[in-house]
Amino acid sequence: MNTAAAITVKAIRVAELVPEGQPLPVYVHVIDHPDARVLVDTGLTQLHPAVADMDPRLYPLKEQGFDIQSVDIVVNTHLHFDHCGGNHLFAGKPTYVQRQELDDARNQVHYTIPEWVDPPGVRYVPVDGELDLLPGLRLLPAPGHTRGSQIVVIAGDKGPTIIAGDTAVFFNELDNPHTEGQQLVRALNPEKVWLTHAPAPWTPTKRPL
Ligand SMILES: [Zn+2]
Repeated sequence: MNTAAAITVKAIRVAELVPEGQPLPVYVHVIDHPDARVLVDTGLTQLHPAVADMDPRLYPLKEQGFDIQSVDIVVNTHLHFDHCGGNHLFAGKPTYVQRQELDDARNQVHYTIPEWVDPPGVRYVPVDGELDLLPGLRLLPAPGHTRGSQIVVIAGDKGPTIIAGDTAVFFNELDNPHTEGQQLVRALNPEKVWLTHAPAPWTPTKRPL
């Protein structure tokens, strides 16, 4: 069987941030792989005074017919509050994050919401650099947005599909890559790149400026 062809990715909107009145959606990505269901990032699930200025709206997974128990593996691209705020829902499941990111989130002040990083029962698997997580599915470090950020790279016949978190927040950052992570994404010649804050994937197709 062609494993790559059997892997699907779906984006689910779990929240919206409204900093200064400009809505910014927050998506998580579900990868259905023949060997496991992988959830990339977990959005946010609660309000918190530290981010009240972003006026978050929440769209809980369980209210969208998504079975929380069906997730086998969680991957965090990084641990900012809008990417790890649902980690508590997956307590006990292996949760893959770069060791650098975990260290920074635990030790730097104002990095994230600390209690969302380490709620009871969350089981991190710290990753040092590249990891073959499943056949056709790799984790690669992609520094830039944070120095411990990682991306998920899914092999495909027309180039990989990448789930890039906030390696780019907006499409123009991939059109004109600057950070090491953005340049890595482009160097992989992806077919599609899913971003946390965009409803559809970026593609390398030429677009009018
Ligand atoms: Zn984000």
